[in-house]
Amino acid sequence: MTKRKGLILLVLVIIGIIIGIKFSEKGYTTKPYIKEDVLFDTYVTVKAFGENKGEVEKAVEEAFKEMKRIQNLMDFFNPESEVSKINQSNQKVKISQDTAQVIKLSLLYGKKTNGAFNIAVGPLVSLWNFGEGGLLPEEEELNKALSLVDLKSITLGEEARTVQLLKPEMKIDLGGIAKGYATDKAIEILKRHRITQALVTTGSTTKVIGLKPDKKPWQVGIEHPRDTEKLIGVLSATNESISTSGDYQRYFEKDNKRYHHILNPKTGMPAKEIMSVTVVTKKSCAEADILSTAIFVMGYSKGMDFVKKEKGLEAVIVTLDGKVHISLGLKNKIKNLLEEI
Ligand code: AMP
Ligand code: MG
Repeated sequence: MTKRKGLILLVLVIIGIIIGIKFSEKGYTTKPYIKEDVLFDTYVTVKAFGENKGEVEKAVEEAFKEMKRIQNLMDFFNPESEVSKINQSNQKVKISQDTAQVIKLSLLYGKKTNGAFNIAVGPLVSLWNFGEGGLLPEEEELNKALSLVDLKSITLGEEARTVQLLKPEMKIDLGGIAKGYATDKAIEILKRHRITQALVTTGSTTKVIGLKPDKKPWQVGIEHPRDTEKLIGVLSATNESISTSGDYQRYFEKDNKRYHHILNPKTGMPAKEIMSVTVVTKKSCAEADILSTAIFVMGYSKGMDFVKKEKGLEAVIVTLDGKVHISLGLKNKIKNLLEEI
């Protein structure tokens, strides 16, 4: 190779490298940055768009850290968590702002849903032990646990920085709201990093902000409660919280009967009538999480009435007979909707 040719080749290589660097600096403007991990005993996914590659990656990293922090505070099964500290004591326990906010919202919705959402289900959750496969409780144990499921015996102190459980052996469980709250906090972190187009999914709880770069809404699949390969429809969403509660998420079968993790606080037994509830709302994801659990407990008729009365709340309910029911506001927002499963 002549000196001249060598020089040209060198220049071309350098130009190539510069173009390569420039291209990689372009950031996540057409394809999102995607990160997945396991938190809250489920899959967590964050997808974020943004021009500044480094900032998008840093924001997503921080969003995951934040969700892990929330998990460490609210994990019912971790003896070191703040929730466990509350459950191990009958005195006033000092709590973080996050736990206080989550308890406050839970108590508010406890009233609003007429006790369908009840964070005092802790003793029932321990008894059923779905975390480790599940166990059918004896009637006596069930009655004892039920006597402790009492929302009125949870007292939040002034300015909500302490909490006290008034009955010995009472326990709170934030499993019906913590994932939604963590999703809200993750979105908050992304927004703080000037990300305006993102999706965060924690298990069956999703929040989306903005539109995708093609100016179209996000597409969120609604899980089929009996076939993981299928969907019951695909929802178009922007700036919305979506949460699904289902009898297929944690359950065991005994004598051909399915026992699942969404408990009726009045009977101590798994709530009947419904296979899955998906709520769609502009409210926070913590509220969406609460509401999917609560509507599941209410059953189809009371649940759909609640949806109709509550402003800015829509739902897809699959009843045990396999029928798929949707509230009016979702009529043109779900593609490929099954009428029956
Ligand atoms: P989700 O998956 O959001 O519907 O929440 C279900 C989880 O919430 C269960 O695994 C329990 O930890 C807890 N839970 C069960 N039943 C209730 C209830 N009626 N009210 C509040 N939390 C509940
Ligand atoms: Mg929930």
